[in-house]
Amino acid sequence: MTAKTDISEISQKVREGVRLSQADARHLWLNASDAELKALASQVRSRFHEPNVATYLIMRIINYTNVCVAKCDYCAFYRLPKAKDAYLLPNEAIFAKIDEILGLGGDLVAFNGGFNPNLKVDYYADLFSQIRSRYGNKIEFYAMTVVELLYVAQVSGLSVSQALSILKEAGVRWVTGGGAEILTDSFRLRHSPQKYTTAEYYAAQRAILDAGLNTTATMVIGFDETLDERLEHLETLRQFQDKLQAETERELFSFLLWTYKPYETDLGGQEISPNEYLRHLALCRIYLDNIRHVRTSVLTQNANALTGLAYGANDFDIPWEDEVTEKAGAIIERDINRILGYAREAGFEPKLRPCAQNSQLNPGALTGIHF
Ligand code: SF4
Repeated sequence: MTAKTDISEISQKVREGVRLSQADARHLWLNASDAELKALASQVRSRFHEPNVATYLIMRIINYTNVCVAKCDYCAFYRLPKAKDAYLLPNEAIFAKIDEILGLGGDLVAFNGGFNPNLKVDYYADLFSQIRSRYGNKIEFYAMTVVELLYVAQVSGLSVSQALSILKEAGVRWVTGGGAEILTDSFRLRHSPQKYTTAEYYAAQRAILDAGLNTTATMVIGFDETLDERLEHLETLRQFQDKLQAETERELFSFLLWTYKPYETDLGGQEISPNEYLRHLALCRIYLDNIRHVRTSVLTQNANALTGLAYGANDFDIPWEDEVTEKAGAIIERDINRILGYAREAGFEPKLRPCAQNSQLNPGALTGIHF
């Protein structure tokens, strides 16, 4: 059987809504043309979303501390606790950043720091309850990533569920799936051995959802991961979402794909090509048939991210700041109209997705573009 015949059989499976195997995904990755991947990804996208419409939100990442003891070799951001340029932002500086994003028409901030051994759960509970009492529902915030949650619980001498209950009481509604990078133990042992195992990561995600909070899925490509590792990540993620959907009323809200920036890191290397990003984005949309929202990364891909809307993505952030990726070479485009123009050039009408006022709802239960 030729590669072309195989691709038409796999395309038929996608058309009929038959789930792809890892062998199918591998075959598509190695043999499908860009046009074939694009068409298949758009077909799966259209099961969930209006064609030619994309949603976006205006947000910033607040890097409230750069102190981290995890020492991942792909990170240019962290500083060890005694470093001269280690910092912890005062709360007033955090509020000023929230005020600025509100002034720009945004309504979301995402907190991302590191494994700071001096910050226990009380620090976070105090900060987040101050934000809720100051801003109410005008702003939504992603409180931390899954791996930061694991670390905060650990240094506070609590279980993940106990930490979540304190954070929820302080007004937290979201903990994002950040810290996933490539979800295989082989990858994590090579590059981030302190950043918890795949099993610990998924167990914490389940605890977040069981606590009534929302979470997301992420994946970062472009390190030295193998195709097998990429496919294993997608497979375990799809299985995790299957189990959630079978056992609970909850699910992972979205999947975000972004890319490694190699500058100033110990790992180094080269960035992957824009085309490789688009091909993998399409493969993710096709393979993750149980995740409604696939998000493309303006932060790491700039204009190319909007081309990603034609490769299966339906949603994007317009980010104002992220020191983690900027330290490693990301250049943030801050002209909002220009970014929206890229989406239109790609054939999609961008619609602002309100985050704050809708976030009390369980977004997994909502349909269409009104999430
Ligand atoms: S990637 Fe995150 S966890 Fe790893 S060293 Fe950097 S800040 Fe720390």
